Amino acid sequence: MIYLDCAATTLQKPPAVVRAAAWAVGRLATPGRGGHPAAAQAAALAFRCREEAAALFGVADPERVIFTANATHALNIAIRSLVPPGGRVVLSGWEHNAVTRPLAALDAKVRIAATPLFRPQAALDAFRAAVEPGVDAVICTHVSNVFGYTLPVADIAALCRQRGVPLIVDAAQSAGCLPLDLDGWGAAFIAMPGHKGLYGPQGTGLLLCGRQVRTAPLLYGGTGSASASPEMPPFLPDRLEAGTHNMPGIAGLLQGLRFVRCMGTGRILAHERRLTAQAAGGLKRLSRVRVFSGPAQTGVLSFQIAGVDCEEAAARLGQMGIAVRAGLHCAPMAHESGGTFEEGTVRASFSAFNTQGEAARLVRCVARLTGR
Ligand code: PMP
Repeated sequence: MIYLDCAATTLQKPPAVVRAAAWAVGRLATPGRGGHPAAAQAAALAFRCREEAAALFGVADPERVIFTANATHALNIAIRSLVPPGGRVVLSGWEHNAVTRPLAALDAKVRIAATPLFRPQAALDAFRAAVEPGVDAVICTHVSNVFGYTLPVADIAALCRQRGVPLIVDAAQSAGCLPLDLDGWGAAFIAMPGHKGLYGPQGTGLLLCGRQVRTAPLLYGGTGSASASPEMPPFLPDRLEAGTHNMPGIAGLLQGLRFVRCMGTGRILAHERRLTAQAAGGLKRLSRVRVFSGPAQTGVLSFQIAGVDCEEAAARLGQMGIAVRAGLHCAPMAHESGGTFEEGTVRASFSAFNTQGEAARLVRCVARLTGR
């Protein structure tokens, strides 16, 4: 199988990730629970993972790196921390259900800084018009998981700083291929999965917390610290990490983060861009294929085939040995903004492990589907 669904989760992992996760099972206990070597070793490894993430993502204090189960979990904590029921929020037009559904549950008043696809300058202008003092939070996806479109997050962060509005960045599609700088941007939170561009196991995610940011636990329970208190500890990371940690996941994630640091996000991005441009170029030459491509696109490529339903196209590509995803990709808002809500798209998404040969095969298989 040629796996081109890396925007859902990366399947090919560095061997060190797999080894570390398997090694941790049956060896590591839980950080903060007991003074015995298995707990101490778990605490040391968890701290190394926080340090690695802090160094990669511009966080001065590793304690502000929180382990979560996925990006959704991280985003829910960030949103609950900043947005009260009925609160006011400004979003980009490209958000995932992991942002919009928690806001709907809070009955938040949402304003969308709407702009066309692949127009970062217009996006910045739209945020300028929409972000007013008194807004509870701005939430912006860094890269659309549907179109690979990169939003100008550093500029949006500067705007939010000027206006005194906290910013939550959904880095689910950018962590591992674009630079992230929590403290440099002055963002309130950055949320990301560990299992996509950081090449960690599923069941891992990270929430980076800004300096002095208000935090509200989503889960309440044991932390191994301040156990006599009925309340969650006020300090990070314990305040946001109730319950036993996913140590196999964290051990694997540490190796994934090291892989990304050693490769360099710039090199990973360049590789993914090369594959995206190659596939986009090939698909554009097919007469019935509509390709969504533009400047500063990452390794995510959406397309449609005239006369072939996108689910049908993905199923037939699957029969030819290519794994892609079809439909709305958990991001109906992005499809509304992109004008593809009715039909959805077929999405091919690349990682550091995909090859030019695989991108070429995708184009050949789509050509067969279109009858060429
Ligand atoms: N936001 C975006 C932009 C995503 O692409 C995804 C996952 N595809 C998520 C949030 C949710 O991530 P997770 O599945 O790790 O909860």
